[in-house]
Amino acid sequence: MTVKETYDHMMSLAAELADLESAAALLGWDQETNMPEKGIEGRAHVSATMAGVRHEKLTHGELHDLLLELKEVGGDMGPENKAQVAALWRTHDRASRVPGELVKRMAKTRSEATAVWGQARKNKDFDGFAPKLSEMMSLQKEYADALGHDGTAYNALLEEYEPGAKLADIERVLNEVKDFLIPFVKAIADSGVEPDLKCVLGPYDTKKQGEFGAMVIKAMGFDLGGGRVDVSNHPFCSGIHGGDVRLTTRYKDDLRVGLLGTIHEAGHGLYEQGALAAHARTPLADIQSLGIHESQSRMWENNVGLSHGFWNHFFPKLQDMFPEHLASTDVNGFYAAMNDVRPSLIRIEADEVTYNLHIVLRFEIERDLLAGNIEVKDLPEVWNEKFRTYFGIVPPTPDVGVLQDIHWAAGYLGYFPTYTLGSLNAAQFYAAAGRALPDLEEQIARGDFIPLRDWLVENVHRWGSSFAPNELMERATGKPTNAADLITYFKTKYGELYGLS
Ligand code: ZN
Repeated sequence: MTVKETYDHMMSLAAELADLESAAALLGWDQETNMPEKGIEGRAHVSATMAGVRHEKLTHGELHDLLLELKEVGGDMGPENKAQVAALWRTHDRASRVPGELVKRMAKTRSEATAVWGQARKNKDFDGFAPKLSEMMSLQKEYADALGHDGTAYNALLEEYEPGAKLADIERVLNEVKDFLIPFVKAIADSGVEPDLKCVLGPYDTKKQGEFGAMVIKAMGFDLGGGRVDVSNHPFCSGIHGGDVRLTTRYKDDLRVGLLGTIHEAGHGLYEQGALAAHARTPLADIQSLGIHESQSRMWENNVGLSHGFWNHFFPKLQDMFPEHLASTDVNGFYAAMNDVRPSLIRIEADEVTYNLHIVLRFEIERDLLAGNIEVKDLPEVWNEKFRTYFGIVPPTPDVGVLQDIHWAAGYLGYFPTYTLGSLNAAQFYAAAGRALPDLEEQIARGDFIPLRDWLVENVHRWGSSFAPNELMERATGKPTNAADLITYFKTKYGELYGLS
């Protein structure tokens, strides 16, 4: 075979893999939105079979040989084709390192551990979960060893969510964030400024919240002809493929939950819609860095959706829609309420500032657990002690403390740091977009979000997985991920809101 024939053959196998992933994503979306309760058992079989077929195709010897051959050709293929080979090799290589027997044990333990976790959280009983969590932890070590690492098992797990990232780099940047945030959050609490939250707490009519959300995401440039919005318990975005991007949200009385959730998922959705049509059904369409994906959602949710300019434009429209709630509030009072910062127990309900301390705490604990520096049985005590140090409060019961997240039960170790990487990257992209678009603030204040969306398409979305995360950051912002822009953003915005000097 010529190089071109080898490449074309590899790409046709890659397209089949992409189709299987689309089908699995659609099954997953359906399960969370529409599937009747009794469908769960049958669906579990379908999903497991699909995952098995994909794994078999992904680790097949034929694909292995094609990829090896193409890797040897290297640069002679041109940068785009080389990047396609590298992206699929990464996925293929990781999948091939893990024995099928271990994959099955992990799937089994995951479904048992998440069920036990759900029960333990309901019963506020950490001891009921501890044995399963210990089992999951030793499996994660086994998994990391199978993947291979340099002596730091955490690196092997981190690589799954953030290609090229190393524990030492994550530690450095998260320590910087933590050292800034602990005194900053305390200064906000001590400022004596207390926004009046009545205007955001509602109750707001769910249907009208949905209409307002749809107006906002249309203005952001989200194409509802190639996407849709539904309701689920946990909001998510599923890019079935470039022409079918599905968001979910949830509504509460509190306006912030549904609206910010919708904007967040639409940020993910714009990323999926911004992919190059030429990358459809190819390895480069598969976004490998969660820190980059999360930057898109967080930028729209926080840097844009919680900005004064954004509410200059949208507050009068919201007031028209909900006169009974908002007639006596002005945009400044509403903006202050939307940006209320205070220590709280639950990560997913936290404001954008304290959120990152929730992440630092989880990161430090999972790092120490995996390294064997702390034991599962001591987790509640470790959690509460750290919580006291970082937030000045202590969870009264484990369901609102150490048991609140599903990640460890599901075996997602190395995932948490990508949330804060998302915030850091978001601040960095937003600052870079501001340098490229000098009247960005004015555009946002008049509801024109398209120049920003286009800047993101050009500098982030269209590249798919062409570059490692830090390379993409350097190309788009001039520097790798770091804490400076997020810290400046917080200092400027909240310094003003809370009268800090
Ligand atoms: Zn997200």
